[in-house]
Amino acid sequence: SAKPIQIKVVLLGEAAVGKSSLVLRFVNDEFQENKEPTIGAAFLTQKVRLDDSVLKLDIWDTAGQERFHSLAPMYYRNAQAAVVVYDITRASSLDRAKSWIKELQRQASPNIVIALVGNKLDLADVTDVETSAAAAGKSADDSTGDADGDADEASDTEGRSRQVDSATASAYAAEAGLLFLETSAKTGQGVVETFTEIAKKLDLN
Ligand code: GDP
Ligand code: MG
Repeated sequence: SAKPIQIKVVLLGEAAVGKSSLVLRFVNDEFQENKEPTIGAAFLTQKVRLDDSVLKLDIWDTAGQERFHSLAPMYYRNAQAAVVVYDITRASSLDRAKSWIKELQRQASPNIVIALVGNKLDLADVTDVETSAAAAGKSADDSTGDADGDADEASDTEGRSRQVDSATASAYAAEAGLLFLETSAKTGQGVVETFTEIAKKLDLN
């Protein structure tokens, strides 16, 4: 078979939105509850198989901190794809994602494929059930899963709920010509799909 096509992908987004966790889930199918912050950038590779081709993704996972901002162009320059991540429980992280997207549209390769990704979807599932149950004045429906089974987890995400609704982010993404997905690095939901959607869009170029 043919040599895999090599693709450079960069991850951008505010600190702590889950960029490294998404890559760790995609590459190793793992999740760490208290992931240490990335210094500078990390490099990982993973293959994506499509019907007729294999793409080898060279993934540059950047640090979100502003003090590393000046390094970002080194990572997005010559990138064929970018994953711009926000945290659905922090509205400010979508604003930061939008400013990354503007920067990419000005400075990166003109035909770069950009995916806007709303991460930590697992937190929305839990709180949506609790919120709707509270509003209805009854307990959460058991058929929706273990909504109350996660309450024992102690982490900095405890008690957080969705601040960015899907429709708003999706409309912005459509307007800006981006792929849009919501993910959970914790459960794996949407993670492989994110990279597969990117690969499919690249394959057409
Ligand atoms: P980065 O700075 O964008 O690379 O973010 P990290 O991957 O280091 O994640 C920051 C924190 O968010 C860590 O404590 C992760 O365990 C947590 N985290 C990342 N992704 C998710 C997710 O999908 N769901 C939840 N509940 N926590 C997550
Ligand atoms: Mg990181």
